[in-house]
Amino acid sequence: MSSFEMSQIIKPSNRQNEEYKILQLLGKGGFGTCFKVENQIGEVFALKAIKKQAFGQNLTEVLNEANIHYKLEHPHIVNLYDVFDDSDFVYFRMELCSSQSLFDMVVNRGELTESEVRLYMIQLIDAVGYMHDNNIMHRDLKLENIFLSESLDLKIGDFGLSTELNSMDERESTPCGTLPYMAPEMLTPEVGYRFEVDIWAIGVIMYIMLFGSMPFGQDTDSMLVSQILNADFEFPSDVEVSHAAKNLISAILNPEYDERLTLSEIRHHFFFRGPTPTQLPTSAFRKAPNFD
Ligand code: ADP
Repeated sequence: MSSFEMSQIIKPSNRQNEEYKILQLLGKGGFGTCFKVENQIGEVFALKAIKKQAFGQNLTEVLNEANIHYKLEHPHIVNLYDVFDDSDFVYFRMELCSSQSLFDMVVNRGELTESEVRLYMIQLIDAVGYMHDNNIMHRDLKLENIFLSESLDLKIGDFGLSTELNSMDERESTPCGTLPYMAPEMLTPEVGYRFEVDIWAIGVIMYIMLFGSMPFGQDTDSMLVSQILNADFEFPSDVEVSHAAKNLISAILNPEYDERLTLSEIRHHFFFRGPTPTQLPTSAFRKAPNFD
């Protein structure tokens, strides 16, 4: 458990009368270790501890993540309540997502029903639209970064690679994120990219939720890149998925970023005319609910 112990008390260096007791290890990421913690009045949170030493003197990457995440307040974005430190660590105190991630749910279930996918797509589009309206690109949307609350509501997290665009025509050129989710224009630096890369990732996420496999999954990176650049994917025949869902995925995974559907166009696609629950039962994390 790195250098932390169960029941250990964490006290922010510059706050009096504030302390958090470690209850459980939630998971380890590239830079941080995340714990379930409890304050003195029994409120529970997720606390991500990031070792300062791992960043040397340069904590700007961590602070970039905190600054961007702090600005965002939305029912489908993990809430970042506070950032503090002690001598060795920077801590992010966040909303606890106790039902793990969409990745874990898809691993348990194999694939989700179309009704569930409609609900999660609506929540995802709503949150990403809010980020984009605030000029923020997430750049690492994937199942592992989509957390689930206790009641299985979707919450986007991990803003470690996100960035804020400052002008209407600014384009980024540095590829970043997770290759199977990367948009073609991100892999062609001379083109540059903007918010449409997050929309591409939403298409990949929708495909994985429905089919339980990756649209782009070649063995070598160079084969994967060429597959993505050509939007060369197929729909597996062994999973029954509607024409409406396949039509929507194909329109999102358009390699031409300026012809790709916008978030509003996605939301108005005929796929969303099908039945949509307002909430999933918690049992849906392991077993298909009875909607379809
Ligand atoms: P990194 O940015 O270093 O990759 P993450 O933000 O992905 O770290 O967090 C690491 C792990 O901690 C995640 O995989 C997840 O298991 C857990 N985790 C992160 N945030 C939360 C949260 N808000 N609620 C519950 N678990 C979380």
